[in-house]
Amino acid sequence: MLLAALCCLPLIEFGREGLHGWSELVVYPEAFRVQRSHIDAAGVLHEWDDELIGESWDSGPLILSWADVQADIADPHAGFCVAVHEMAHKLDALDGAMDGTPPLPREWQRQWAHDFQQHYDQFCARVDAGHETAIDPYAAEAPEEFFAVVSEYHFSAPHVLEQEMPVIAAHLRRLYGTFTARE
Ligand SMILES: [Zn+2]
Repeated sequence: MLLAALCCLPLIEFGREGLHGWSELVVYPEAFRVQRSHIDAAGVLHEWDDELIGESWDSGPLILSWADVQADIADPHAGFCVAVHEMAHKLDALDGAMDGTPPLPREWQRQWAHDFQQHYDQFCARVDAGHETAIDPYAAEAPEEFFAVVSEYHFSAPHVLEQEMPVIAAHLRRLYGTFTARE
């Protein structure tokens, strides 16, 4: 019940089409390992393990570590919420491309893509230069991670996001509604 509520937070404004294409929520007791493999340009197979606290598959389940969900709830204003993070990936992937832009009306999507690209580039430059950032530097991993991480701030530390990136904060208020966690 708690998990369903957390996962639906990002859908209050967006609506239930945000759940399109998948139905399964898998919960592991704690962080879990997944095997990764990649064949590089030279044809060499690389295999490694990743430790994850959440994962969102294209048209597959959303997977969460219960220990990490509980840690988010224990410290709800810290800017972390793995359930919201993975749901942002689900929304992002709805238009067939996981690229940091969810399906939106045309005009808004154009503005969104422009603003997110600009802020993502600026953020990456600051992280690359070794600057401390108020937003988790994981957001510099990729445009889709940037969207997922700022979504976590929208719900759990909106004042930090408003201060750091007011333009992004405004897009997220429009996407998710103005619900904010109680102080
Ligand atoms: Zn992610």
